Amino acid sequence: MQDRPLTLCIDLKPALDAGRLDERIQRDFSEAENKNFRNALDKLLPKKLIPVIVELSGIAPEKKVNAITRQERRRLGALIKEMKITMTGLRGFDEAIITQGGVAVREVNPSTMASRLVENVYFAGEVLDVDAVTGGFNLQVAWSTGYAAAMHIRQ
Ligand SMILES: Cc1cc2nc3c(=O)[nH]c(=O)nc-3n(C[C@H](O)[C@H](O)[C@H](O)COP(=O)(O)OP(=O)(O)OC[C@H]3O[C@@H](n4cnc5c(N)ncnc54)[C@H](O)[C@@H]3O)c2cc1C
Repeated sequence: MQDRPLTLCIDLKPALDAGRLDERIQRDFSEAENKNFRNALDKLLPKKLIPVIVELSGIAPEKKVNAITRQERRRLGALIKEMKITMTGLRGFDEAIITQGGVAVREVNPSTMASRLVENVYFAGEVLDVDAVTGGFNLQVAWSTGYAAAMHIRQ
């Protein structure tokens, strides 16, 4: 984690420009005009995101949709197009996707995955001190090192 906070800016509706999104919100609102605001976003957003967006929008959750002003609606659209999240820390080991540490790679022969220290011991995957950004690279490490180790154990 860096010392200074990182801010992410997420466009939750990249397929719609601001104008089209506003039209979409108006359409959804006209179908739900007697509902409370917090119950009017089901078609627009995933369930878990609704309370977050409702809170960030500054519009009262119990406000009737037909009482939402144009300004509030536009602010909601702007929020959906540019949702800002400030990262303040990591979520801890229980929720970790990849870990650093493990067996030092200099102690392993990269062609065979055999330990350079102990005979007939092989390593593969996350037990090694290798980590990559998420997106398949860690799985690739696990599969490739597993394959290399298996091919040499078999011999
Ligand atoms: C939530 C999550 C999302 C992820 N998403 C991605 C992603 O999108 N892209 C990506 O590249 N990587 C991703 N990863 C990382 C990736 O899954 C791992 O790097 C990879 O699975 C490591 O493979 P592995 O075989 O080394 O270890 P593991 O897949 O952890 O396999 C180890 C196995 O050993 C078993 N085991 C443990 N102790 C013992 C024991 N004493 N006796 C017998 N068996 C035991 C475990 O039950 C487990 O089945 C993700 C990881 C998590 C947790």
